[in-house]
Amino acid sequence: MERYDAIVIGVGAMGSAAVYHLARRGARTLGLEQFDIPHDRGSSHGVNRIIRLAYWEHPSYVPLLRRAYELWRELEHVAGERLLVVTGSIDAGPEGCRTVQGSLRSCELHHLPHETLAADELHRRYPGYRLPREMVAVYQPDGGFVLSERAIVAHVTAAQALGAQVRAREGVLGWEPAADGVRVRTSRGTYAADRLVLTAGPWTARLLPALARTAVPERQVLIWAQPLRPDHFRLGAFPVFNMEAPEGRFYGFPIYGIPGFKFGKYHHRQEQVDPDRVDREIHPEDEDVLREGIRRYFPDADGPTMAMTTCLFTNTPDEHFILDVHPGLPQVCVAAGFSGHGYKFASVVGEIMADLATAGESRMDLGLFRIARFAAAG
Ligand SMILES: Cc1cc2nc3c(=O)[nH]c(=O)nc-3n(C[C@H](O)[C@H](O)[C@H](O)COP(=O)(O)OP(=O)(O)OC[C@H]3O[C@@H](n4cnc5c(N)ncnc54)[C@H](O)[C@@H]3O)c2cc1C
Repeated sequence: MERYDAIVIGVGAMGSAAVYHLARRGARTLGLEQFDIPHDRGSSHGVNRIIRLAYWEHPSYVPLLRRAYELWRELEHVAGERLLVVTGSIDAGPEGCRTVQGSLRSCELHHLPHETLAADELHRRYPGYRLPREMVAVYQPDGGFVLSERAIVAHVTAAQALGAQVRAREGVLGWEPAADGVRVRTSRGTYAADRLVLTAGPWTARLLPALARTAVPERQVLIWAQPLRPDHFRLGAFPVFNMEAPEGRFYGFPIYGIPGFKFGKYHHRQEQVDPDRVDREIHPEDEDVLREGIRRYFPDADGPTMAMTTCLFTNTPDEHFILDVHPGLPQVCVAAGFSGHGYKFASVVGEIMADLATAGESRMDLGLFRIARFAAAG
């Protein structure tokens, strides 16, 4: 039986970064992926993901984000390609809402440069935005996006150059603790390792059934719409955004990679799903939800559809991540439950998982991300 220092199950956003950081520490590492690398059946496809520093969700994320930015820049250097594009970011909504107040709080606590703009001033600077007068926007210049599939390729390529083994189309059927670490059984064989890192995204509960109610997959749908006024949505003219509206929370990007304005709604139609049986067809109701938001807030982008795709969130009850050592098994670490906002952190999550697996601790404050906060998962 082949033996490794560490096995990583799931080579998507978090797993590819974990394999890389383990290999950087000199650990003999095996990454196992059930599909291709990259693929479009998990959570990380669709060209790019927003990265933003003014984190409305909780100020505790800001130190992780600062490290994530550093590591994305390092990875660009190693890969020799651009992976992080800075556009500035907008957090918008009614003045007192959680998004605007949370974003301002993170800016103030962490001394982030920012400006608060009224809706008409936002439109004057970035004409693609046509938000109603009762909304305000927090502009933070460091926001932008990470090229999500390219970054998975970059992490895997860099890990392989350091000697890591990565195997695609080799699904893990089961794992078990052993006296000297773990055993992992796949569609092709059985492996042994001292440490196990679980980064299985929407399939997490298949490998850790105790998380069945704590890491819940949800179907999402994205659209790329050809703008009627492309100049307003080109790179350089349009910051990425997060917006709290009466209809829900929308997000979007300037044109990049696909010839359209990329737009989505968090929790789309609130459909909890089985990741192996999710409906990947796009239905008229899916487009209606997105078109309603585009017409109301970005009418100059309401042109023909260029592309649409489905994708999966994995939600925890409080929408904060799980980054921890397994409560009963010190040889097992878990990165899961990214609740629709995890990609931007993948670089630092890889480093955290490597720290937890090799040293049992991280220099980052992981207090918000403990498994034990969910009684059912302990
Ligand atoms: C539509 C959409 C928009 C988003 N927008 C943003 C955004 O703008 N900014 C942001 O930061 N985040 C965003 N997110 C969230 C972010 O993309 C996810 O948090 C992140 O991609 C999760 O990464 P992951 O590694 O957990 O999952 P994945 O990248 O899906 O990786 C998990 C991998 O594990 C593999 N796997 C599972 N089980 C097994 C097994 N038994 N054997 C072998 N392999 C296995 C899977 O095949 C998969 O490749 C968005 C998500 C979606 C769906």
